[in-house]
Amino acid sequence: MLALTNVQIVYDNTIEAVREVSLTLGKGRIVALLGANGAGKSTTLKAISGVLYPEDGEIKAGQISFEGRPLAGMAPDRIVKQGIVMVPEGRRLFDQLTVEENLLMGGYTRSAADSRRGLERAYALFPRLTQKRTTVSGYLSGGEQQMVAIGRALMSEPKVLMLDEPTLGLAPQICEEIFGIITRLRHDSGVSILLVEQNAQAALAVADEGYIMENGRIVLDGPADKLLRNE
Ligand code: ADP
Ligand code: ADP
Repeated sequence: MLALTNVQIVYDNTIEAVREVSLTLGKGRIVALLGANGAGKSTTLKAISGVLYPEDGEIKAGQISFEGRPLAGMAPDRIVKQGIVMVPEGRRLFDQLTVEENLLMGGYTRSAADSRRGLERAYALFPRLTQKRTTVSGYLSGGEQQMVAIGRALMSEPKVLMLDEPTLGLAPQICEEIFGIITRLRHDSGVSILLVEQNAQAALAVADEGYIMENGRIVLDGPADKLLRNE
């Protein structure tokens, strides 16, 4: 349903961050995009979500398509309306706003009733946020902030959820919780998930397929269980 074909992305006309990357995310699948720092994973997610601008990074070649339609060149807000959302690395919450206000930001185009249902879904998925509805987000732990960021992204009921390093800097126990939520989300809502992770083992344990990037290229891909055995 989401497909990249031979995508090449260049920064400042010189840095080839992504080279001939082809990748497919099927409906209801979890795909892990793995690789060391600087491999080109974030750049790939940014290209899909439309937040690369010509003065920054440029898609020089290849196609990005969703449900058969090309995405490249589409504005970020239209890409969200197509059903593709990204939780960027570092979460980017509004620190001075409460948990609930942050969640509502993700569904700003929705009706009041849809927003209410969205909040209920978020609190069902993250019960620990229920007690923190009116807590200012800057006071939350890193794990709780990540939960708000994921909850906010889900407010628009996306078809594709892209997560950029959702467990970065979190305690092992919270990481486990986040991976558990990823599995549950797919099971409950059928959302397709593109998961960028440095923790390959943990990501492959919840993914269906994996792609490993190195210096901008996909160097290995296949079923997650197979990649896990080869690790
Ligand atoms: P990863 O997400 O795998 O850590 P990135 O996609 O962030 O990798 O980076 C891929 C390459 O592109 C790196 O060499 C990085 O330094 C470079 N890069 C990323 N963003 C920019 C930018 N805005 N301008 C110039 N180079 C960039
Ligand atoms: P990532 O999202 O992979 O963690 P970083 O945290 O390294 O990227 O980079 C943070 C910001 O700096 C991003 O906007 C990224 O595009 C930009 N950036 C990354 N590498 C470079 C680079 N070599 N030159 C200029 N900007 C960069």
